[in-house]
Amino acid sequence: DVRVRFAPSPTGFLHLGGLRTALYNYIFAKKYGGSFILRLEDTDQSRLVPGAAESIEDMLEWAGIPPDESPRHGGSAGPYLQSQRLDLYRQTAQQLVESEHAYYCFCSPQRLELLKKEAFRSGQTPRYDNRCRHLKAQQVQEKLAQGVPHVIRFRLEEGVEPFQDMVFGWSRHEVAQVEGDPVVIKADGFPTYHLANIVDDHHMRISHVLRGSEWLISTSKHLLMYKALGWTPPTFGHLPLLMNKDGSKLSKRQGDIFIQSFQREGVLPEALLDITTNCGSGFNTNQMGRRIDELISEFTPSKITTHSALLDLEKLPEFNRIHLQHRIEDEAQCCLLIRDLQGQIQQTYSAEIQDKDVLHEDYIRRVLHLRKGHIYFLKDLLSPSYSYLWVRPSISSQQVAALTTEAQHIVSLVLKLISEQREELSVDRLAKDLKILAKQTKATKYREVMKLLRLTLSGLEQGPSVAEMMVSLGPAEISHRFQRLLL
Ligand code: GLU
Repeated sequence: DVRVRFAPSPTGFLHLGGLRTALYNYIFAKKYGGSFILRLEDTDQSRLVPGAAESIEDMLEWAGIPPDESPRHGGSAGPYLQSQRLDLYRQTAQQLVESEHAYYCFCSPQRLELLKKEAFRSGQTPRYDNRCRHLKAQQVQEKLAQGVPHVIRFRLEEGVEPFQDMVFGWSRHEVAQVEGDPVVIKADGFPTYHLANIVDDHHMRISHVLRGSEWLISTSKHLLMYKALGWTPPTFGHLPLLMNKDGSKLSKRQGDIFIQSFQREGVLPEALLDITTNCGSGFNTNQMGRRIDELISEFTPSKITTHSALLDLEKLPEFNRIHLQHRIEDEAQCCLLIRDLQGQIQQTYSAEIQDKDVLHEDYIRRVLHLRKGHIYFLKDLLSPSYSYLWVRPSISSQQVAALTTEAQHIVSLVLKLISEQREELSVDRLAKDLKILAKQTKATKYREVMKLLRLTLSGLEQGPSVAEMMVSLGPAEISHRFQRLLL
């Protein structure tokens, strides 16, 4: 069974890098008919951010990649919150102590600090000198009996086996030469990441670990722990980092890479998923507009590259435009957009709306279908350049007075044209009719006729074609707006 997990620490809110890791796990699980598990690694109690745990799960659901098993939904391998699994880690650590793969360490923080200082002074990387490895059983018992504060450390053996990483191929990191024996249980009784992570991956029956490449160098250490416990390790695959297109780090401090901010800005989740998979990793082609089912079917794990994926956030509006169009074309999705827009129109224009028909579902649907492919975000329709859709632009009495007889004649012709329409207005037909009409009025140039019509309809000098504006507004409203010129 394929079982994969996304294991964030709730020490912050979900950002793009995290979403991408979750997404690769999700599409991997779904491609092979497996399960996608959310596990929250909250063992560093001092760094927890209130609300982050809830929000991470919310964001996965919003993004359309909900976990099959999670803190919220439970599952056969729960609980999915590490702080609720402390006994399991302690038992495992105990087991490691009994088999002499781990030992109690009573070194004081002061001693460790001193070691660090000495190392720095002699230009070396600080590392624990493994002193407590050599304590006699009796010394350990005495110190435990006296209640001396302690941690448990894992005995790192020299000579690690190479392992085959799904992305980086054969890898090995001679950890024992670099690091001192790592702590697995801290002085407060909580496990460290390394222990809790492998204990959970084992007990949650994780088959593949797909995580950020920053963990690649820890994997040899994890494999030594699996070996010490007599457990079969999962297969590992380390995903290259996600970076800005100029190669700089996607900073969490920018604020704008948090999934919640994208959500607030009206970015569609499918546009986010699409853009984060479009930087050249795991797919045969880069192609805009893929939705989750296409991401699943086209995902090719062997195509994940080792070099970092460069993200060009400037293209996000373009991705959103394509996916917004998809949504508009799907009637069920379109209904949701309509409801969303109804609320937003009311909020933005409330008292200015003279004609309640603009809040009607059919009217908004027509507008969406006419503007799809042109707008980048749904909220674009609330910008001043589209206010004519919701609010009648005013015209001054001077404007009316300044109207030439010829212009008045044109306007009355347009009104006649509209009143004669028996079928629903179509942009193409109307555009043709307007051209013919403009020709009939020889003295005035076509462009000037259009300018006048556009101004009267929208108060704008630019924007969608006059024909499209007319089709959006519909016959009654067109007449209403033009009639004002003839009074
Ligand atoms: N809690 C770790 C993190 O925040 C998980 C790493 C892993 O997936 O093993 O990145």
